[in-house]
Amino acid sequence: MGSRPYRRRLAWSAAALLVAGVAVPATAAAGPDDTSDAPSQIAAQSGKQKAKNVILLIGDGMGDSEITLARDYTVGAAGRLNMDKFPMTGTYTTYSVDKNGKPDYVTDSAASGTGWATGQKTVNGRISKTPGTDKPMTTILELAQRNGLATGSVTTAELTDATPAVLASHATDRSCAGPADMKACPNDTIAKGGPGSIAEQSVNHKVDVLLGGGKARFDQKITEGRHKGLTVTEQAKKLGYQVVTDDKGLKNARAGKPVLGLFAPGNVPVEWTGKAAAQGGTEPQRCVTNNPERKAGTPSLDEQTRKALQLLEAKQSGKGKKPGFFLQVEGASIDKRDHAADPCGQIGETAALDRAVKVARAYAAKHPDTLVVTTADHGHTSQIVPLEATPPGLSSTLVTDEGQQLKVNYSTNTPGEAQEHTGTQVRIAAQGPQAHRVLGVTDQTQLFGTIRTALSLR
Ligand SMILES: [Zn+2]
Repeated sequence: MGSRPYRRRLAWSAAALLVAGVAVPATAAAGPDDTSDAPSQIAAQSGKQKAKNVILLIGDGMGDSEITLARDYTVGAAGRLNMDKFPMTGTYTTYSVDKNGKPDYVTDSAASGTGWATGQKTVNGRISKTPGTDKPMTTILELAQRNGLATGSVTTAELTDATPAVLASHATDRSCAGPADMKACPNDTIAKGGPGSIAEQSVNHKVDVLLGGGKARFDQKITEGRHKGLTVTEQAKKLGYQVVTDDKGLKNARAGKPVLGLFAPGNVPVEWTGKAAAQGGTEPQRCVTNNPERKAGTPSLDEQTRKALQLLEAKQSGKGKKPGFFLQVEGASIDKRDHAADPCGQIGETAALDRAVKVARAYAAKHPDTLVVTTADHGHTSQIVPLEATPPGLSSTLVTDEGQQLKVNYSTNTPGEAQEHTGTQVRIAAQGPQAHRVLGVTDQTQLFGTIRTALSLR
């Protein structure tokens, strides 16, 4: 589907690079610390390609298996998802480090997110702070703000979850989400002169658009400092935030004041449900595409993305504002349902992120000075296996939209335990200024340099 315009776009991108006199090798890693010749050739040209805006879409736990599974089930094996249509596709390594800086081969979302948010690797569980000394590191969102750009973060998880947290907070441990959750972060408390919980830091940063779940965290009472006695939500209102809790509220939110959207007490309920994978497999199943636990009035990820773009665009057109924005959009529960060996939940969330990718690419089609990147933070457990396989772990047979059976296996942990992340490289795909920097094999920390260069952030 859509192969014709896709081919045209590809041809155009290649042509643009040729006009610029750039030879495009099949594997060009144009990362900041790369020293080989071909990338520096591209880098020499790249100074001319500047982006006004960056939209970064993260599929949490969205490895190649997760993408393939969603493609097979929804558009068919020969079909193409929106995220398959980027002209530039590469792969990146995601490992984290231990406190001595040695590789930890399987990352979590906190360490991987810290990688692209700061350009530096850290230990699993840590939010934009150094691995050994636990010192805050400047994030891409903070740099964007310092340079006068509008900023936004959208997620299907709690807004205090690791992937959104890495942008606008610094915490010893990802669990320090709300003022009542500070046990693992003794040095980050306000009483100790620290910045407080992830929720408090997020609103103190005055990020222009914050949309997601986690209302219960923001409704916790602050127990220290000048906002003592208020909930974080009340603090946000004091700081000028419009607080909205459903699609109507979101629709009515106006540019000019920052927006905090909290659409669920915890993670936003997933779009699809079905039978979890089981030992010995399941009967062939079709996924249920309207989860009854998802309340009417819960905005979808693509609706939130569309509104975020509208708000960020309006913000930058104000008097004296430097044009441009940085927006991160996370499909969080691909990971969460993968942990739970729930293929339908996982596929539904991948499809939901893919619709947000479509919104981002449609925006970029009208605003070509927008760099759009789609990637993941780490691989995950699901594997497509032959129908005749009898894996010892959990498995499920699905009947795809094209009427074929597909078997998915979850065997990274003992049945009954949560399934695990994997240490595999993951896909990174892009279009727009500096998109060529994702080609070849790079590392998640290099994405920081790509965004920084594209936006000319100082
Ligand atoms: Zn996970």
